[in-house]
Amino acid sequence: MTGSTPAPFTADDYRARMERAARAAADAGLAGLLVAPGPDLVWLTGYAPPAVTERLTLLVLVPGRDPVLVVPTLEAPDAEKAAGAPALTLRDWTDGTDPYAVASALLDACGRFGVSDNAWAMHLLGVQKALPGTSYASLTEALPMLRAVKDAAELELLAAAGAAADAAFEEIRKLPFGGRRESDVAADLADLLRGSGHSQVDFTIVASGPNGADPHHEAGDRVIRGGDMVVLDFGGLKDGYGSDTSRTVHVGEPGPEERRVHEIVREAQEAGFRAVRPGAACQEVDRAARAVIAEAGYGARFVHRTGHGIGVTTHEPPYMIEGERQPLVPGMCFSVEPGIYLPGRFGVRIEDIVTVTEDGGRRLNDTTRELVLVD
Ligand code: ZN
Ligand code: ZN
Ligand code: ZN
Repeated sequence: MTGSTPAPFTADDYRARMERAARAAADAGLAGLLVAPGPDLVWLTGYAPPAVTERLTLLVLVPGRDPVLVVPTLEAPDAEKAAGAPALTLRDWTDGTDPYAVASALLDACGRFGVSDNAWAMHLLGVQKALPGTSYASLTEALPMLRAVKDAAELELLAAAGAAADAAFEEIRKLPFGGRRESDVAADLADLLRGSGHSQVDFTIVASGPNGADPHHEAGDRVIRGGDMVVLDFGGLKDGYGSDTSRTVHVGEPGPEERRVHEIVREAQEAGFRAVRPGAACQEVDRAARAVIAEAGYGARFVHRTGHGIGVTTHEPPYMIEGERQPLVPGMCFSVEPGIYLPGRFGVRIEDIVTVTEDGGRRLNDTTRELVLVD
């Protein structure tokens, strides 16, 4: 992630987000938020430093005060170009001076602050040393739903990213699979994602035959053969917002069990999708999908949660998992991606991004969920 996101958001949008975050922090009993470079900073300010380095960049949000972005002097010109810059006060520090003195001067000497999860430990330790009376909480744990409900412009960007990923699938299914390495198909997928407007490719999983039974298999040297099931799971960022979709294809004519397992996963994915409605708990989406797979006798072979949120990152809260009682709210966006994994044999996963509307779920991916046969 480099440069500012090209998202069509104005300084007023970022001002509103920062105010909302500061209010949420106060409601959660926090004295403020410390936000390091990463998805929270991009979402709050539109700013991503040219490179994340040992030099301190830190957004300080304290309820009732103007937001301040602490930046290295040499990067101040980049920060000034961010779409959210007019809503911020920039406080720069030069090499040889103490950035933690600058940051800590903006904070109360005691109190509990939320810190973005990806802040470097050295930076947090630097602030903590300057203010020994402070304590810290994970921003994601304290405010898990901060970025979860998307506004209309964000939903449009997520829908466009989903459509772009779908376009990549429509192309990859026309290409030959048999006789090529997984990594070759993965490279094609990455090219197709970039060709459809993605500026960043986060993953291109091509898991053929027995590799498909490993949900985290990326793509390797295995040569894909006739008769293989192949799990494809790919996505990245387009205009600052994420895509993430999975389809499982078969090289040539599938056998009866392959068809059956694929159909179970398709029905599970449909059941998870149909469970999406405002007020339903996240765990109900997981339960709905899992029940189909369990009833078919493959419960032990569905080894991961049903879904995760998506926005300026491809994995974020809310999580569709047993125990997550967070109610669904219109504007939330997340994956519904059940799978069945048969060690040593094959795997199947089907994944769509779904958004919550007043009437239920709306899919942001809509390529066929039937088993696609490839060459
Ligand atoms: Zn087969
Ligand atoms: Zn995925
Ligand atoms: Zn996913």
